[in-house]
Amino acid sequence: MREFEYAAPRTVKEAVALLARANGDARCLAGGTDLIAQMKEGRRSPSLIVDIKRIPDLMRLDYVERRGLRLGAGVPCSTIYEHPVVREKYPIIVDACSLVGSLQIQNRASVGGNLCNGAPSADTAPAFLALNATAVVAGPRGRRQLPLTEFFVGPGKTALAPGELLVEIIVPPPPARSAGNYLRFIPRNEMDIAVAGVGSVVVLGAKGVCKDARIALASVAPVPLRAHEAEERLRGRPLDAEAIREAGALAAAACKPISDVRGSADYRRHLVNVLTQRTLYACLKQLGVTGES
Ligand SMILES: Cc1cc2nc3c(=O)[nH]c(=O)nc-3n(C[C@H](O)[C@H](O)[C@H](O)COP(=O)(O)OP(=O)(O)OC[C@H]3O[C@@H](n4cnc5c(N)ncnc54)[C@H](O)[C@@H]3O)c2cc1C
Repeated sequence: MREFEYAAPRTVKEAVALLARANGDARCLAGGTDLIAQMKEGRRSPSLIVDIKRIPDLMRLDYVERRGLRLGAGVPCSTIYEHPVVREKYPIIVDACSLVGSLQIQNRASVGGNLCNGAPSADTAPAFLALNATAVVAGPRGRRQLPLTEFFVGPGKTALAPGELLVEIIVPPPPARSAGNYLRFIPRNEMDIAVAGVGSVVVLGAKGVCKDARIALASVAPVPLRAHEAEERLRGRPLDAEAIREAGALAAAACKPISDVRGSADYRRHLVNVLTQRTLYACLKQLGVTGES
């Protein structure tokens, strides 16, 4: 491993100054569960590591009724899924965060690191995409906000410019009569990368009509993405078996999967179809509406 310098700033401003000075040759360190492995394998060799876990802004987790959830980029997965407000209002975040690796990994790994690593398979990405989350980014020119849909730009690549870091993720308050669920498929019931992952959020209106639906996919395209046509098909319709079947097929059509050792492209499309339907039925179950699954 190449020699590197280590800094543990106490403010976002300090962190930005350190990153800017390194001219693109620095990396943030949150839990280190991705970064340290990548450095050991020689896939990344930054000259400076900026440890972000001592910056209070990045370790906050609070909920304000009007604004929603503010989730610091460095907060570990286990802190998130154990939080009573997250458990009550955002079950889809609980689903996703409790699937990231083992308990040991969840105690270190942050959602910020999961998103900034830019893996198409990142388990928390579909949950936050389906929740219409916004990323708050700080850099040499100040802070900016961008919808999470614009955050992923390619495998291992995000919209973060050199010198920028992710400060927090803002999740809007959940609408009345809404539910969310994330499911992934892995070949064996142990730590592995998802072959396909689907996160769905549903908002029900009167008489079981779908007011809004958001469906997001992981591991089936170069970036985690939303299945917009599947969502459109559900809006304004009763969430019955036919609508759910159609949404599953449209979500599968939105994939641009590769074939690899974990599964063929066709297999991944099939999984997305099945997982989409299952997450939608799980949402209905949460809302107390009976549905098949
Ligand atoms: C055994 C094992 C099992 C795993 N299982 C899963 C799994 O089931 N699902 C899954 O999705 N992932 C899994 N992972 C991958 C990893 O644990 C997650 O991606 C984790 O959430 C990364 O978070 P971290 O805090 O450790 O990030 P780090 O490793 O610290 O950082 C990851 C990347 O993001 C950058 N970064 C971190 N924070 C910021 C920030 N605030 N601003 C800008 N850049 C930042 C870093 O520079 C680095 O490039 C697993 C890893 C291991 C080792």
